[in-house]
Amino acid sequence: MALFWPGTPCALCSAPIEEARQAIGFAALPTTLSAFDGLHDANVHRTCLRVWALKDEFVAQYNGLVDTWARGRVSRLSLTSAGDVVHEVDDWVPF
Ligand SMILES: [Zn+2]
Repeated sequence: MALFWPGTPCALCSAPIEEARQAIGFAALPTTLSAFDGLHDANVHRTCLRVWALKDEFVAQYNGLVDTWARGRVSRLSLTSAGDVVHEVDDWVPF
């Protein structure tokens, strides 16, 4: 799982993320040589991810990699009705 510290850059907009509650982090999954590789083992602003045009494709690819490589050790992602991306396991605590 991506480490977070105040000021860590958002993998989507490159601006610093000041507080952990503003971020969602992703696991380091095997590279797939896709446009989404920069998001693996990275943090993004939740607000950036909510409006990102490719979020549905990213969530599908991420979950596919979790199912293949890390099931049970990494939480899958889901989309809320409001369009937010969240980890499926509520009590899953990123590092
Ligand atoms: Zn951002």
